[in-house]
Amino acid sequence: MPYSEQTVQSVRPWSDKTFSFTLTRPQDFAFENGEFVTIGLKREGKMVARAYSIVSTTDRDHLEFLSIHVPDGPLTSQLAQVRPGDSVWVNSKATGSLTLNHVLPGRVLYMLATGTGLAPFISLIRDPATYARFEQVVLVHSVRTVSELAYHDEISALDNPHLHYVPTVTREPFATPERGADLFCTGQLSQRLGLPKPDFEHDRVMICGNPEMTHDMTTWLKDAGWTITNHRGIGNFTTELAFVAHHA
Ligand SMILES: Cc1cc2nc3c(=O)[nH]c(=O)nc-3n(C[C@H](O)[C@H](O)[C@H](O)COP(=O)(O)OP(=O)(O)OC[C@H]3O[C@@H](n4cnc5c(N)ncnc54)[C@H](O)[C@@H]3O)c2cc1C
Repeated sequence: MPYSEQTVQSVRPWSDKTFSFTLTRPQDFAFENGEFVTIGLKREGKMVARAYSIVSTTDRDHLEFLSIHVPDGPLTSQLAQVRPGDSVWVNSKATGSLTLNHVLPGRVLYMLATGTGLAPFISLIRDPATYARFEQVVLVHSVRTVSELAYHDEISALDNPHLHYVPTVTREPFATPERGADLFCTGQLSQRLGLPKPDFEHDRVMICGNPEMTHDMTTWLKDAGWTITNHRGIGNFTTELAFVAHHA
């Protein structure tokens, strides 16, 4: 059986569009920080399952997720209703391309996230191994509204001199209104943080966000000489889609 039945432990709403929840962790469930797993709900005997990045770190005995709420979404219209004690099914196999092994060690690790694309990076910024491999870590989280800045207070409270957290809000007044990708590409991001200009010899980039941002950043980085990690080898940047866009 690839799926095991797990129990919701807690639910935390962030906005009308986003929420986090924790589940019991399946026995012998192995994963790397930054990976995703397929989770699902059973409705009238049928499983509806979708990919979810794991927010919690490998050393915890629960699994934490950050979810979108798509009102007519087959999974999330139901998932948004779960309460502690309810069941969620978790696949036994985690995978993904946003682990520390997907980029070479380096000087600055840039993590560029939009929306729920933040999820894998919460796991990675909580992992001491991240700071053993990189001198500085920059986490940029771009969202439309302030209430979508999930984990803002926890990240701000980490008080880690090697972690630079840059929340940006594009559709409401906010101190940083630019899109994270634009801040990176124009060089403003490193400049504002007092870091050297990003350079593929020394620095690394991880991207997790909406398909358009991920595509645009991939093109921009490749044009600028960066190499993506794929089956041919480990490059200096790696990406994962935060979701797949289905067009009706
Ligand atoms: C590798 C991978 C990792 C993922 N990790 C997460 C995660 O950690 N958290 C999460 O909420 N979702 C994540 N997703 C998306 C997730 O698999 C589902 O698409 C999402 O839960 C919605 O499911 P649904 O059945 O309600 O709607 P779906 O039919 O799956 O999606 C309907 C539409 O909603 C939009 N949509 C879907 N997911 C998102 C999203 N996350 N943000 C903004 N718009 C979206 C898209 O336009 C999509 O076409 C991930 C997807 C992939 C491929």
